Amino acid sequence: MRFRKAVLRAGVGLLTLALLFLGFDRLTDSTTTQVFGAIIARVETPDPIVALTFDDGPSAAHTGEVLKILAERSIPATFFVLGRNVEANPDAVQAIIAAGHELGNHSWDHSAMWLRSARDLRDELARTDAAIRDAGYAGPLHFRPPFGRKFLMLPWVLSQQNRPNIMWSVAAESFTPGQTADEIHRLTVAATGPGDIILLHPMYGSGAATRDALPRILDDLTARGLQFVLLSDLLARRSAD
Ligand SMILES: [Zn+2]
Repeated sequence: MRFRKAVLRAGVGLLTLALLFLGFDRLTDSTTTQVFGAIIARVETPDPIVALTFDDGPSAAHTGEVLKILAERSIPATFFVLGRNVEANPDAVQAIIAAGHELGNHSWDHSAMWLRSARDLRDELARTDAAIRDAGYAGPLHFRPPFGRKFLMLPWVLSQQNRPNIMWSVAAESFTPGQTADEIHRLTVAATGPGDIILLHPMYGSGAATRDALPRILDDLTARGLQFVLLSDLLARRSAD
């Protein structure tokens, strides 16, 4: 009997650990839940507006192509950039600013930020903000965490700065080598509606399928009556309701 009790206890213990781990994993990865401050994945609005966001970069190799696709359609976008890349590619950053797009802080070098100290997080946020400001950008400067991951300290530090944690509601890229432009196009267009925040990664050498899909995504969503706005303009609708 004692043995059976011990086995039962061990089983309950293991189950509790597993549930705790699952809860932890879901909290760090969730695009809609965090313990402190605001987390925004999309905006509730009846207006047919969406925000297009690009993460990582900017890269010297691909910024020009992305800007050209946007310029041909007069579509604004928000670029969540890495401080390290801003410093390394000043011409690409200048071109993004000159075209009237919005820049966002996506960390200094994309190392995970979800288990770091408050001081460390504040330093990295400030260093990246400074690189973006030094490049001549004067507009709104929102933050999106690398990998979209956070736990307790990052949301707390952001809430101290009155900065919402910006996530996304449409992300069609699988980051597998076989994913085609057709699939990224189809999944993105199918998932997007009013108030959505679209996430794409066109800045990598491996992002060719995304760059191929981009013109079709923009044209099809425009044809459906959706209008692209800067992230801060979409967020402004949120505080208005
Ligand atoms: Zn990223």
